[in-house]
Amino acid sequence: NAPFSPEALTALRAELASGARPLFIDGVFGPAAAGATIDVIDPATGDVFATAACGDADDIDRAVQAARRAFDGGAWPATTPAMRARLMNRLADLIEAHGERIALTESLDNGMPFMMAKFGGVMGASEQLRYNAGWATKITGETVTPSAPGEWHAFSRREPVGVVGAIVPWNFPFVMAVAKIAPALAAGCTVVLKPAEQTPLSAVILAELIAEAGFPAGVVNIVNGYGQTAGAALVDHPLVDKITFTGSTSVGKAIVRAATGNLKRVTLELGGKSPVVIFADADLDKAIPAAAMGIFGNAGQICAAGSRLFVHDSVYDRVVEGIVARAGSLRVGNGQAPGTEMGPLVSQVQCDRVMGYIASGADEGATVACGGQRVEGPGYFVQPTVLTGTMAGMKVVDEEIFGPVLCVMRFGEDDIDSIAAAANEGSYGLSSSIWTRDMSNGLRLANRLKAGTVRINGGGGVDPALPLGGFKQSGWGRENGRAGVEAFTELKSVTVAL
Ligand code: NAD
Repeated sequence: NAPFSPEALTALRAELASGARPLFIDGVFGPAAAGATIDVIDPATGDVFATAACGDADDIDRAVQAARRAFDGGAWPATTPAMRARLMNRLADLIEAHGERIALTESLDNGMPFMMAKFGGVMGASEQLRYNAGWATKITGETVTPSAPGEWHAFSRREPVGVVGAIVPWNFPFVMAVAKIAPALAAGCTVVLKPAEQTPLSAVILAELIAEAGFPAGVVNIVNGYGQTAGAALVDHPLVDKITFTGSTSVGKAIVRAATGNLKRVTLELGGKSPVVIFADADLDKAIPAAAMGIFGNAGQICAAGSRLFVHDSVYDRVVEGIVARAGSLRVGNGQAPGTEMGPLVSQVQCDRVMGYIASGADEGATVACGGQRVEGPGYFVQPTVLTGTMAGMKVVDEEIFGPVLCVMRFGEDDIDSIAAAANEGSYGLSSSIWTRDMSNGLRLANRLKAGTVRINGGGGVDPALPLGGFKQSGWGRENGRAGVEAFTELKSVTVAL
């Protein structure tokens, strides 16, 4: 966790204490219509350090109307794809220029270490914009040879889906917001973004930079507020053409039900319970630290966190000892403190959930190999925790904990089918990791895993070029890559009888 300038933190705190962060609707910054605000809590202390305007259904309606006007006429449809790309790259430049302020805001708001906010959040966001800016000029249909008799000319074209409602969670607020907006803009859509109520602050900086970059009014609107009110109003709104959502599986299902009103398109990035498989021949010097940070990174609040670890008998003790040692050496603390590797959980609610899961694990017979307690003092810190003796059927193995809690299981033989069957148990299918030097085994297992992502021997983090999404109840559709942009288009067939 490298240093930043202490003056920047002092200035930011003063700015955040100076008044409620506004909504951004139709190019104008202002309070919520009803004047409501959200108290923003520093998860490292439990103290309120900022407030944000709290929009409701009226504000969502104003924002959707603005997005509708911007889509249906005026500046945005008249903007060429090359101009859209230029605006997106300009926004990426501004995000990089304001990187320190954004990352500090994110660290204060979510609790994550500053360096994670800078590289995972700020740089990840600018990469999303630059990658998707490239697509703006490359969205195409196909010419098709029709099967009907006669002489025809037939082709397909991709058109923007329309007004997009984007709803994001609190675990990586800034990059998630940008990762939803970027492909939508590339496709030619307009957007209403509803950030998570726990972490409303970095989205307001995003709004400032969108205005500064020169996007026409109404193209992106940002309305903070609660899920049950502002979020539900966005999903219900008849003038919204598509919802793109990241968050819990239960809210994802509620969104699917609510979206039936006008049959708006829906893509969902939901929870996970991702398996990590370490074979006997794995490079343990790499696999052990990666498995540890795969669950302790961002205090386990990552949808793709490797939360179920399957280890071959012959290396089981060494792997568990190694992860427990890493947990013991992990510097847990305030996200702005130099050297912090793991911050607090985002809220009291999340902290209570995670502690409830740890208690249920112990009740169901798991052994706490390390951690298992809250860290004494203020804030929502939970010790990095390793549970052994766990098995399918236990709540800690079956359900997403979204905290720094690893469940470890062992296997005896390199029987790929039975390893795959164990790894595929449960309702999720978001991500997975495999560690082996035998690439044949690795790829055979990769083919069998029901997961949207398989990483063999590391294999990088989230990449804007690579499709991301879930099998089973981890989601609908894909983000990133070509599929991610095309998810913001409608496909139209045009035929001409010659
Ligand atoms: P959540 O699903 O409740 O919230 C995510 C977003 O949806 C927030 O912006 C929220 O305001 C909004 N929302 C909530 N109810 C809504 C509704 N009825 N209509 C429209 N929008 C609504 O997630 P949470 O409660 O903050 O976290 C609970 C669990 O969700 C976590 O413990 C974790 O398991 C999971 N989660 C997953 C991810 C992920 O990246 N896949 C991210 C955050 C949380």
